[in-house]
Amino acid sequence: MNDELVIALSKGRIYRETLPFLKQAGIEPVDDPETSRKLILRTTHDDVKLLVIRATDVPCYVEYGAADVGVAGKDVLLEQSGGNLYEPVDMGIARCRLMVAAPVGSDLSGRKRLKVATKFVRSAQRHFAARGQQVDIIKLYGSMELAPLVGLADCIVDLVDTGGTLKANGLAPVEHIADISSRLIVNKASMKLKRERVHRLIDKFAAVAESREAA
Ligand code: AMP
Repeated sequence: MNDELVIALSKGRIYRETLPFLKQAGIEPVDDPETSRKLILRTTHDDVKLLVIRATDVPCYVEYGAADVGVAGKDVLLEQSGGNLYEPVDMGIARCRLMVAAPVGSDLSGRKRLKVATKFVRSAQRHFAARGQQVDIIKLYGSMELAPLVGLADCIVDLVDTGGTLKANGLAPVEHIADISSRLIVNKASMKLKRERVHRLIDKFAAVAESREAA
């Protein structure tokens, strides 16, 4: 296992958008995660493996060294990471914004306490604490947009891309919390012990990200 490079990433959008970065680094998967039920995918290099896991688990695998590197959304890193990893490349993929949103026309200013529905508990807590706003955070696992419509919360903290989902549910963005995109993350020990391989991957990923930014 020690000579291997193990890369953790999640199925779906992050997997698809990471493929061109891996290709530039000369790595192509042999198995397809959309059709295979394997969790460890082989690649064109015998000593490079891909772990296909839940997005929220990627930082954990990398921090504990079960994977050397990974690709994770900044939203997931803000929530899940203990900060015990390196984050050397902003890949610029899966871009969106973490925002506070509320029903159109509602006035949240001056409220002593706000009920906030979100799955981004840490980010929401940090945001409102920095503004001195008291909140009750209601942890949900999906469809946050519903919560203000049925009186469960005054507002939500969620990812917004086009704004279409908010609009379709009578909500509007109120505050911007953070710009989100996916990052290449690296285990601290792997950065030292597998220095050459990891640095080659970082350089390739950075070059792809730069060329896309410039395009
Ligand atoms: P939109 O309607 O385009 O604003 O997209 C908002 C919906 O898509 C919300 O349910 C978000 O949770 C989800 N979403 C948007 N961008 C991302 C992203 N980069 N990663 C994960 N979920 C996202």
